[in-house]
Amino acid sequence: MARQLDPATRDALVERVRFYRDLGLTEFYKRPVDQALLSGNPDEPQNLGAPSEPQMPCAPSFPLAPTEMVGDPGPQSASMEDQPIPPRKPFPAPPQIAAEVPPSDRAAALQMIRDEIGDCTRCALHKGRNKLVFADGDPNARLMFVGEGPGADEDAQGLPFVGRAGQLLNNMIAAMGLKREEVYIANIVKCRPPGNRTPEPEEANTCTPFLFRQIDVVRPQVLVALGATAATYLLGHRQPLAGLRGRVHAFRGTQLIVTYHPAFLLRDPRQKKEAWADLQIAMRELGLKPPGKA
Ligand code: URA
Repeated sequence: MARQLDPATRDALVERVRFYRDLGLTEFYKRPVDQALLSGNPDEPQNLGAPSEPQMPCAPSFPLAPTEMVGDPGPQSASMEDQPIPPRKPFPAPPQIAAEVPPSDRAAALQMIRDEIGDCTRCALHKGRNKLVFADGDPNARLMFVGEGPGADEDAQGLPFVGRAGQLLNNMIAAMGLKREEVYIANIVKCRPPGNRTPEPEEANTCTPFLFRQIDVVRPQVLVALGATAATYLLGHRQPLAGLRGRVHAFRGTQLIVTYHPAFLLRDPRQKKEAWADLQIAMRELGLKPPGKA
């Protein structure tokens, strides 16, 4: 007989399946569950005929239903994801890659960068800021995400990706089989641009030297640029996202992968399938398998 799930587990499962469906993943393994494992009794026989809970998705299939949108999804520029950033100023040369920091010293090294930034007034964005958003996550992470800049929720909490776009990013991370605490998350600019506008080149170019130093300390194996602004200022060239996605870029000793910004995915959920394809490139580079797949 099929096992009854408690309401909380059922709700969590429904939520997870809905998210995979949003990603375009609609086929699930119905793998027979070893009843002995479920009941904790190793002597109980397997019930090969019983339907089991859905396992992880095996392949993307059909297009996605639009999801409901509430709240502030994040940067406005994410709605123009495939537009190149207009050429205005040349990109400054990125700083030289810093010497490797031993894993045990990385938290302290990041704190030193944070201390150096201090109560920053280096660009105009400080005027509208409540909290500077430095980063969040594991100083020894193998995977790092870089977004555009804080939105209203991030500005209030001082942490990156804690609003609606952050919820979607958390789901993306979970779909990769990781926990948010296991990755490192930062932004191109550390202070919220007014009205969530795209950071000006001067603002981005003032802030990114600190981001490059953070990247050099964490030294992630894979770096995911979320959206056109992150891709542009990390790679130092203006190009539509379409030309940057779907491949691995060598960047400061890491493998950089470009995908859509979660705020863009909230506005156009049909692109989640494409984003999932990008994340699978990241997973391949990290040697990760989707959770539930042996
Ligand atoms: N969008 C971003 O680019 N960064 C955040 O931290 C939140 C939303």
